[in-house]
Amino acid sequence: MPTMKPSQPSDQFRNLLLCLAMLWPGTGGAVHEARELAGQHLNIGVLAFRGEQRTEKIWGPTVEYLSLAVPGVSFDLMPLDLEQMEQAVQAGQVSFIITNPGNYVELEYRYGVSRIATLQRYHHQSPSRRIHSAIIARADRTDLKNIGDLKNRSVMAVSENAFGGFQVAWGEMKQHAIDPNSDLAELVFAGFPQDNIVKSVLDGSVDAGIIRGCLLEQMDRAGLIDMADLKVLGGRPNDTGECRVSTPAYPDWPLAKLGGTSDHLAKLVTMTLLAMPDNHRAALAGEYSGWTIPVEYQAVHDLFRELQIGPYEWMRRPTLLILWSRYWQWILVALLGVLWWIWHVYRVEQLVRTRTSQLTRANLRLQEEMEERQQTEQKLLTQQNELAHVARVSTAGELASGLAHELNQPLSAISSYAQGCIWRLESGRITQDELRDVIQRMASEAERAGAIIQRLRGFLRKEQTHCKAVDINQAVGEATDLFAAEANRRGIRVNLTLAEAIPPVCSETIQLQQVIINLLRNAADALNGLAAERRRIELSTHYAVAEGAVRIDVRDFGPGIDPQGKSHLFEPFFTTTADGMGLGLSLSQSIVESHGGTIRVIDNAHPGACFSIVLPVYKEP
Ligand code: ADP
Repeated sequence: MPTMKPSQPSDQFRNLLLCLAMLWPGTGGAVHEARELAGQHLNIGVLAFRGEQRTEKIWGPTVEYLSLAVPGVSFDLMPLDLEQMEQAVQAGQVSFIITNPGNYVELEYRYGVSRIATLQRYHHQSPSRRIHSAIIARADRTDLKNIGDLKNRSVMAVSENAFGGFQVAWGEMKQHAIDPNSDLAELVFAGFPQDNIVKSVLDGSVDAGIIRGCLLEQMDRAGLIDMADLKVLGGRPNDTGECRVSTPAYPDWPLAKLGGTSDHLAKLVTMTLLAMPDNHRAALAGEYSGWTIPVEYQAVHDLFRELQIGPYEWMRRPTLLILWSRYWQWILVALLGVLWWIWHVYRVEQLVRTRTSQLTRANLRLQEEMEERQQTEQKLLTQQNELAHVARVSTAGELASGLAHELNQPLSAISSYAQGCIWRLESGRITQDELRDVIQRMASEAERAGAIIQRLRGFLRKEQTHCKAVDINQAVGEATDLFAAEANRRGIRVNLTLAEAIPPVCSETIQLQQVIINLLRNAADALNGLAAERRRIELSTHYAVAEGAVRIDVRDFGPGIDPQGKSHLFEPFFTTTADGMGLGLSLSQSIVESHGGTIRVIDNAHPGACFSIVLPVYKEP
C-alpha cells in the first residue's frame, strides 16, 4: 500500500506545538508519554475514492500538519480503497483512519475503531448534516420527475459501497418503494470520478445517475456543465440552500483511531486537529474549514439497518420473522397445504379404521359361514358315506345269490373231498400221502371260500372318504372278481384290459369298487334279453399322461342311453328300470367328484353305452 512522506517540519514549529500540548489542561502529566512517542512513524489511512494523486493533494497537507504538530511523531499518508482500508485496519497497519461515514460505521462495528473528530466542511454548516445524494436526470425528461419514476429505468452510480454516491440514495429509493437491485431496468456502477455519471446522463446512456450532493453545482461553477440541462429528482435545497439534493443529510467524514492506538496519542491528534486554523494550508487543500468534536453517527446506523448492509448485514439472513414478512403468502399456502394434508391423513385413517372394522366383521361372518359350511359339508359327507354303505349293503344283497353260488363250489368241493376221505379211510384204501393231498385241497378250497367272504365283508365295511394312493388296476380287478359270480349267473362276459405302468390315483378303494360294480350292474341290466354274442362288457384302464389323470371305461353292447334321458342320467331318482331306485349314477358321481374326478357318458360309435371315470393321479401331500 502506498504511503507518502510529508516534508520535515521545522524544529522550531515542532517545539512550539510540543509546549502547547504540554500546557493543554490535563496533558501536563503525560509529558513522559509524549516523550515515548518520539521518533515513531505512524500511518494514517485515508479513503481514496478519487484516486491516489487526488487523495495526496487533498489530504497530504493535513497529514503533514499532524506530523508537524504532534511532537516526536511523523505520520505517513496511506491512500486506500474500501477493501484495502479493511485489510489495513484488520492488520493494524494504520493508527488512524479518515473515511466516509458508512465505512466508519462498518469498521467501528467490525474492528472497534472510534471516532475522535469530525470534519467541518464549512463554518456555516453543521457537520452532522453534510452528506447528501443527488439523483439526476436530463431536464428534458418529462417522464422522470420524482424518485418513484425510476422504476424500470437504467440508473448509474459510483459503486455499491459508495456512501454518498449510492447508499444514501438507495435509502431514499427504498422510501419510494423502489429496490435498486430488482426494480430498475439496469443498475450500472461506473466507478470514480463521478463526473462520468453526469456525462452519461447528459448523453442519454442512462436514464438517471446518483452523485453526491452539490457536485452538480460545483461542476456548473467550474463551467463543466450547464445546470439548466439537468434536474435533481425529488430535489430539495440542502441546509445551506446552496445545492439541490434528493436525500436527507448525513454526518461528514470522521477521523477515527484504531483500538491499538494509544489514548494519549489520540488526544494529541484531536487537540491538534481542533486547533487547526480555518485558513491553514491543510484546510484549504482539503476544502474544509477545520475539525470539530465527533458528531453522532446514529443516522448512518439507521440507514444501514434499513438497507441491511454493513453491521446489519446479518439481518439479511432469514429469520422466521423476516421470512414471514417476505414470504407470508407462500408460507400461508404451505401451512394450508400441511393442514389439508393432516386433515387428509386423519380422514384416511378414519376411513381405514372404519373399513378395517367392517372387514373384521365381514371376516367374522365369513368365518362363521365357513364353519357352518364345513359342518354342513361334513354332515353331507357322512350322509353320503351312510348312503354309499346302504347302497353297498343293497348291492351285496343283490350279489348274494351269485356269491352263494360261487361259495357253493368250494364248499361242495370240501364236502366231496371230506366224504371221499371218510370212505377211503373206512375201506383202508388211502395212504398217508394221499390223505395229506386231499386235506391240502380241502384247505385251499376253504381258503377260496374264505376269500370270497372276505371280499364281501370288505365291500360292506364302513369307510370315510379320504384321498389315498389306490392301485387302480388292483381295485378294478377286485371289483370284477366281486361281480364275476353275478356275471356268470346272467351269462355275461366281462373282458378286462388293464393299462401297464399306471400310476396310483387319488381315491378310496371300496368306494371306487362300489362305483365300478354299479356301472357293471347297469351294463348287465342293459344287456338283459340280448343275444349271447352281445352279452359282454369291456372294462379297461388307461393313463392319460398329458392330463395327469387315469381313466376307467365301462362299455357294454346293449341298446345304449336313451337320448331323452341322457341329460338326467346323474340326477337322483332318475331310472328307466322297473325295480331301479335311480340312485346308482347319482351316488357314483358324488363319490368320484369327492375324489376330484369326473364321470360321464361317452358317445359310442357302435351300439351300447360307455361310462368313463377320470381320476387325478395321486400326489404326495
Ligand atoms: P337304476 O339303475 O336304479 O335305474 P342308476 O342311477 O344306476 O339307477 O341308472 C339310472 C338310469 O340310467 C337307468 O335307469 C338307465 O335308464 C340308465 N342307464 C344306466 N346305465 C345304462 C347303460 N349301461 N345302458 C343304458 N342305460 C343305462
